[in-house]
This record gives sequence, structure tokens and C-alpha cells, in this order.
Amino acid sequence: VKRNPHEPEFHQAVKEVAESVIPFINKNPQYKLAHILERMTEPDKVVSFRVSWEDDDGNIRINRGYRVQFNNSIGPYKGGLRFDPSVNLSVLKFLGFEQTFKNSLTTLPIGAGKGGSDFNPKGKSDREIMRFCQSFMTQLYQHIGPNMDVPAGDIGVGSREISYLFGQYKRLTHQFESVLTGKSLEFGGSLIRTEATGYGNAYFMQAMLAHQKEEIAGKACLVSGSGNVALHCAEKIIQLGGKVLTLSDSSGTLYVAEGIDQTKLDIIKDVKTRQRKRLSVLTEQFTCEFYEGKKPWHIQAELAFPCATQNELTEQDAITLADNGCIAVSEGANMPCTPESVQIFSERGVLYAPGKASNAGGVAVSALEMSQNSIRMSWSEQELEQKLHDIMQQIHDQCVKYGSKNGQINYVDGANIAGFIKVADAMLAYGVV
Ligand code: NDP
Repeated sequence: VKRNPHEPEFHQAVKEVAESVIPFINKNPQYKLAHILERMTEPDKVVSFRVSWEDDDGNIRINRGYRVQFNNSIGPYKGGLRFDPSVNLSVLKFLGFEQTFKNSLTTLPIGAGKGGSDFNPKGKSDREIMRFCQSFMTQLYQHIGPNMDVPAGDIGVGSREISYLFGQYKRLTHQFESVLTGKSLEFGGSLIRTEATGYGNAYFMQAMLAHQKEEIAGKACLVSGSGNVALHCAEKIIQLGGKVLTLSDSSGTLYVAEGIDQTKLDIIKDVKTRQRKRLSVLTEQFTCEFYEGKKPWHIQAELAFPCATQNELTEQDAITLADNGCIAVSEGANMPCTPESVQIFSERGVLYAPGKASNAGGVAVSALEMSQNSIRMSWSEQELEQKLHDIMQQIHDQCVKYGSKNGQINYVDGANIAGFIKVADAMLAYGVV
């Protein structure tokens, strides 16, 4: 806390990992002697820069841009860019730190980074978004490269923004290279990347339930958010036979008592992704309720998938979920459950999958996008979905291997320890760096 003042999200993320990993390190003194965890909690490099851009009225606007290059021990830095007013160094350091373990868990050769800006894309015109992205990349391009650092999208950065960023990188460097993932299919993108985080989260839940001889089919599910992760998580749940009761956005929760089917989901996707409107407009389109300013967690269901943002599920929400018979929670977002809520899940026997394991599908398919770019080939949708499914199963199995104790599985410990080992061993091999 003294070393990194005013960084509560970063402290929260490090504390959670330290609690799992320190007992393991104590039993494996080679890591302790080399101070591996202390080294891992310090990013390799942080860059912060001014992003000046002009709005449609000719006013000059100033935002702050960042790239946190956390750890490249097992591959080039890799992690998303977030454009949101809540972005600050603490948030990006927490995300970059988490990414280290997540990327290691994918079994693929990718290091960890995160970046973004406090720019608010809401209410901006398409041209303003373009000018902002171009200005942002004009600062960022010298710090990234296909073997150095390969950013992707995150909150507020979807395929439109990635296209503007990639176009500017190409213009600045005269290179067509795999420097960003989440690209459109016409210029090097991968099939299934858009769906990967949400689909992967549903697959992780499937694996976690299968381990308990349970399944998603027939179960009532709460999904929060209605962005990229939430919409595709809902889609895969529907395909697996689950009943999706809710989606939400920053203005409230959409509740569909009979369950959201694919037809309704397509309408919702259009409203959120193409029209960029609030979920509340859907009350005019089909039978549903909209709870203004509320999250989904008070509704009775067996499975919960928080897919919106950090700390969106509190201790009280966890108590309500457990009281209502929820048996498992799988995080689609990064750190959506507060530490107090995770404690409640543990006490009440609710299975809990931390995002670094359950939402790793997105970055895994990003790494597959890099592989496809390198070999200048594209794999089919079926091949990629099979690979995604297999990776999620492997992540699950690593969590079971390292998180099992007295017949119980602690997925937090499992994910943290499994993710730690690979990076730590690489750092040990490099000597003091
Ligand atoms: P999007 O920007 O596509 O969607 C975010 C969604 O969350 C929107 O529906 C937004 O509502 C809602 N939201 C944002 N803030 C709040 C809030 N304070 N309260 C309630 N709802 C809120 O982002 P993604 O779907 O890409 O990302 C969601 C989460 O998943 C993030 O934590 C991200 O880091 C994580 N993640 C994403 C990956 C990816 O591949 N995209 C990979 C791994 C993790 P509104 O529409 O009103 O803005």
C-alpha cells in the first residue's frame, strides 16, 4: 500500500493472488529465495501519454492514455485496451496483473499487458471516435509490435475502434503486421474471437458443473451486462439448454420471465451493438420487465454469470443469490465479485470460478488469431470453437489439479497457483531480470 498508494483495485487483485500463492511458495522455496512474487507484482514498464483530439465542434479535448506492460516472461505482452472514464493506473495495473495469470492458464505463449484511456466513448460521433483512436495510436505505436506487445479490445473498444487503431498503426509504420487482435475478418481477424470470452465462460461453467455431475441444461441463469461478453455468454447458455432470465446495462436490468431465446437475443444484440441504445427500449418490443438502476442478483436462479464490470456483485448480492438457491457463479467480467462476496460463496458452498480462469477464452482466441496471422492462414469456425472448448476444459482441469483440498475444489487457489507456476519458472530460468 505504501509503495503503490491510491491503487485500491490493484491492491485487491494482488491480495487475492498472494493469499493463494504464498502458502504454495512457502512449500517451494526456490520461488521465495528468488523473490518471484515481489517481482511479478511490479510491472515491467508503464507508459502514460497525452491524447489530444478535436471534437465535432472544433474544441480541443485532452485525455490520458496508458499501456501497462506487466510481464513478458512467456510471450509478448498481450491484453486489452479499455476506453472508459473510470480508467486510471490502479484499474489498469489490476487488469494487467490478473492478465499475467490468465494468459499463463491458457497454455498459450502470451505475456500480459493492459492499456486504455479515460476517454468516454458514450455519446461521441463516429468521426470523434476515429479521431480519438488515431491520436491514441500516434502515441502508442512506438511501444507495441507483433513480437513486443499486441493489444486487443476491452470495455469501450470493439471492432470499430480496433479498425481505426489498426488503420493508424499501418499508416504510421507502413507495416501490415499482427499488432492488434480482434481485427475484422477482412484484414486478419479470427472467426470466433468476438464470441470467445462469452462462449468460453459458458464452457467453463459447463466443465465446473460436469465435475459435480450437473449440467447447464434446464437451469435458470442470470447474466449481467449486455456487451460483448454478456451477449455471447447468453448465446452459448441458450445453445446448451439453459434459461437466460436477465441481461443488464449501466441503467438497469432486463428481466424476461419465460427466458431469452435466440430470436429475442438477436433483437437485443441489434439494440445494444448496432443502435447503441439502452436495454429499457426493449419493453416496447417484447414481454419483459425493466428494473431501473437495479442489478440482476435479486432474481431467483441456479446459475449466475457476472459479465459487466468490476465489483458489480457485492456481499449482500452473494447472500441473496445463495438464499435463492444459486449453486454456481462463473465470472465473465474481470473481478466482478467483491472479495466479501467470494467469501460468502465459499461459506455457502456456491461454486465460484474467478474471471482469470473462466473468461480466458477471449485472450486464448486472440493468441490463436496471432498464430493464424503468423502462418497467413485462417482456421474454420468449427476448428476454432473446438480449440476454445478444449482450452477452457484444460484451464478447468488445471484449477482442479492445483485447487483440490480435502475433496473440495477452490478454483481461486487452483487458477492462481497454476497460472503462477509457468511464469515463475520462466522468471527463475532468466536469472535476476
Ligand atoms: P462492453 O463494453 O462490450 O460491455 C460492457 C457492459 O457492461 C455493457 O453492457 C455496459 O452497459 C455494462 N456496464 C459497464 N459498467 C457498468 C456498471 N457500472 N454497472 C452496470 N453495467 C455496467 O465490454 P465487454 O463485454 O467487452 O467487457 C465486459 C467485462 O468483461 C469487462 O470486465 C472486461 O474487462 C471483461 N473481459 C472482456 C473480454 C473481451 O473479450 N471483450 C475478455 C476478458 C474479460 P452500457 O451498455 O450501459 O455501457
